[in-house]
This record gives sequence, C-alpha cells and structure tokens, in this order.
Amino acid sequence: MTESFEELGLSPELLESIAACGYTKPTPIQAQAIPHILMMRDVVGLAQTGTGKTASFTLPMIEILSGGRAKARMPRSLILSPTRELAAQIAENFDQFGQNSKLTKALLIGGSSMDKQIKIMERGVDVLIATPGRLIDLFERGKILLNDIKILVIDEADRMMDMGFIPDIEKIAGLLPMNRQTLLFSATMPPEIKRLTQKFQSNPREVAVSPPASTAVTVEQFMVKTDRKSKNKVLGKILKQEKVKNAFIFCNRKRDIASLTNWLKKEGYNAGSMHGDMAQSVRTETLEGFKTDKIRFLVCSDVAARGIDVQGTSHVFNYDVPVNPDDYVHRIGRTGRAGEKGSAWMLMTHGEEKQLEAIQKHIGKPIEVKSIGEDKTDDEASKGDVCKSSRPTHYKKKDSQKHNVSKKKPHKEHEDIKGFGDDIPAFLK
Ligand code: AMP
Repeated sequence: MTESFEELGLSPELLESIAACGYTKPTPIQAQAIPHILMMRDVVGLAQTGTGKTASFTLPMIEILSGGRAKARMPRSLILSPTRELAAQIAENFDQFGQNSKLTKALLIGGSSMDKQIKIMERGVDVLIATPGRLIDLFERGKILLNDIKILVIDEADRMMDMGFIPDIEKIAGLLPMNRQTLLFSATMPPEIKRLTQKFQSNPREVAVSPPASTAVTVEQFMVKTDRKSKNKVLGKILKQEKVKNAFIFCNRKRDIASLTNWLKKEGYNAGSMHGDMAQSVRTETLEGFKTDKIRFLVCSDVAARGIDVQGTSHVFNYDVPVNPDDYVHRIGRTGRAGEKGSAWMLMTHGEEKQLEAIQKHIGKPIEVKSIGEDKTDDEASKGDVCKSSRPTHYKKKDSQKHNVSKKKPHKEHEDIKGFGDDIPAFLK
C-alpha cells in the first residue's frame, strides 16, 4: 500500500494543499484509485462515504486539469452528485485541494439562483459540480456546452439509482464526448449500476475498500424498543444518559421532523431541521449551523443528510427504523467517520420488526437491545402501566427468534471492516 501522497505522483502545489488539510497519508481508496486516474483510466470505485473517496477523485482531477484553461460555457470536467448537500461538500473539498491552482468551479444545484450560476458559467469554469436535474435544465436552456468535458465523475451511483436519476445520467452521458475519462463511485454494485459501467466506461479498473453494506467497526449500534407515544421521552432519556456531543436524528416522516425539532427546542436543546422540501438557502444555513456547533441536533431526512460529512459527530439517532436497509448503513455512517468512535441508536416500535430483520440481515449482525427506563409497549401504555424493563413482553418471543437468525456467524467480510479498509493509517492511530 502506498505510504505517502508524494509516492502517488502529485505535484508539489497539490501536496502543499493536502498538507494544509492535515492529511498525512492517503486512505486505501486514494492509494488505489489515484494512480489509475492519473493514467487517464476509467475507474469504478466501490466505497462508502467516510473512506476519503471525494479526495480520491478530486485530487487527480485537479492534477490532470491544471495544465489547461476552460473556455466560456465549456467546462472541462463534470461531477454528478445525487444531492445538493453532497454536491456542496464536493465543492468545498475542491476549494481546499485546489487552493494553490488557478482552476475554477461552478456548483449547479437546484434551489440556488440560476442567474448567478449562468454568469459563472459564462466566465468559463474548469469543474462543474452538479445535481442531474439542474444540469439538464441549464443545458436545455443552452447555457452550457458539454463537448469539452474530459472527465466525468458519477458519485454515489447507487443513491442516484434509488432517487430515480439513472435516465438523467444516461441522458447526460450521451451528451458528452466519447473520448472522455469516466469515474464511477458507488457503495454497492446492483445490476443497474453494473450495466451503467458497461455502457459508459471502457475497460474500467475496479478499486474497492470495503464490502457493500458494511458498517464501520468504529460505530457501536444500539436499539431501544418503545411505542410511538413514548418516543420523544425515550430519546430525551438517551440524550441525557449518553455523552452526546452532537447528533443527526433521522426521521422517516417529514411531519415528525418538524414536531421533534420543536420538542427538542422546548426541552432546551439547540435543534434544527433539514429535509428535501426546504429551501436550499435554509438547508445550507442549517447545515452550516450544525458544522459550526451552533446547532447540536440536526433532525433530518435521508435525502437531506446523504453523504454529509461533519467531522466529530458523536451520535446518530434513528427516530424510526429505516425502511431501506441501505439507508440504515448510510445514516449510521454519519458518525464514526475517519476512524473516530461513534454511537448509533435506533428507536423501534411495534410494526417495524420486518424492517429491523432486513437491516440485521444486511449488516450481518444483530443490533444490541438496550434498556431505557420508561419505554413501554402500546398495550402497556394504554393501561397506563409504566414498564421498568426495556424489553416489552410482546417482543420477547420475536426477539429470540430474530436472534436465532442473527446469531448465525456473520460473514467474514463483516468482521474486520473499517471505513479505511484493512489498515488504519498512522494519522488515525
Ligand atoms: P469522504 O469519504 O470523501 O466523505 O471523506 C471522509 C472524511 O475523511 C472527510 O472529512 C475527509 O476530509 C477525510 N479524509 C479524506 N482523506 C483523508 C486523508 N488522507 N487523511 C485524513 N482524512 C482524510
């Protein structure tokens, strides 16, 4: 494994920017992907967020593009991202790594002023970071020419698929020159994504750092069984009992996001909401508040929080059991990042057993059930009978059944997985 960024063949200017970010050693995805990308090969990167995958494509992209100049309305590279927040984060990374280069970028995302984006495009940009919808919109208005694109990056391809973006991706790829370099990153490789790589990549090199559906070993996972009425109370108890510095709190329903945020505020906590229907400016402001510790609890939906990287997030709470097992992995991946320790807690109510079972199967292990004083079942709640045990009786049988299923020895691949692959780099030790 490559031990240093110098060995990867990056320029002194870029090495300086990397050092300024505090990175001392490439992560496994960076060590594997960067040399291929610098040789202008197509790459399929199997990696989750938290592994350093953004730098694995932005660094060589800066290196490749630094020789040339963009013409008006003709960007030279395109990074497609499923969500606005992830796109904004890639743009931030680009600014950090590109601080010693003359390269320019434009962030084309919905919910932001189109006029401003058009003006920036007209001046000529080297790197376009875009969500598919806004890019197509601007292209159809004749504001962008895509025939000078030399590098295409499709980030979080599996999420693009979940969000129904594959037809858009195909359309965009069809508008680009044939002789470009295409890099595709995905946490999983379902057949639809495989097909995409076959269609749009030529002889891609595959690099992988952790198997799909792995949950970082640095995240301890717990769940508490409760009923809908007691959820806030139970959550409040955990927040008091645990050393929670800050947390993402994921809800399945938008209406719960608003009401839970209000409840937390009433309890005296600094809380903010974030979901897909909110104005982009509000989402950006809230995220900034969370990143700068003004907001301690970010109550959010999957779409809003996908791929968001906030260093040092101590906890993730699943206010509901996610419907899609992949979402569970992505949600809890907001903590325990870059080798730090993190905790993930989930509240489960009657009726969510099947979802839990699917998650446990997906991650290859059972989630530890914890006792929190006042959680109780619907039946007990209606009888006004406060249950001291955290294990409501009518779940007990199902629990043991479930544990039978999950006690199966986890797949080997799930035992030693770390976000950084098989070894923890020196900077994390
Ligand atoms: P990503 O998977 O791109 O979302 O990156 C996850 C986190 O790891 C981000 O906070 C990066 O700043 C950080 N990171 C990426 N590469 C390195 C590295 N080589 N050394 C230390 N931290 C890194």
